[in-house]
Amino acid sequence: MKQVSKKRQEDNEIYKVIRQEFLSKEYNQICFIEDCNKRANTIEHSMGRIGYADDWARENGITLFLDVRFWKPCCLEHNLELENNPELSKKYQLSKIHGGKK
Ligand SMILES: [Zn+2]
Repeated sequence: MKQVSKKRQEDNEIYKVIRQEFLSKEYNQICFIEDCNKRANTIEHSMGRIGYADDWARENGITLFLDVRFWKPCCLEHNLELENNPELSKKYQLSKIHGGKK
């Protein structure tokens, strides 16, 4: 079994808490995909999860995984579909549009 790094472990703990808070906000109740209107119960990381969005995030140690500025409320079906449907993910995921920077 792979050992999870301390930072990663801490991030996971923080994630659990802010995810709950994010999804409890009134304006985050509905899936962000057009015409879906289903209840959002997952998070879509629109910029991906790895690395930092900008200098501010880097200085504050907020990886994209925890950067709520780029989170979108998403239903489970669309969350899975975004992973498996390149067309849909191209339309909605910023990471694919601005991608390339590793
Ligand atoms: Zn949806």
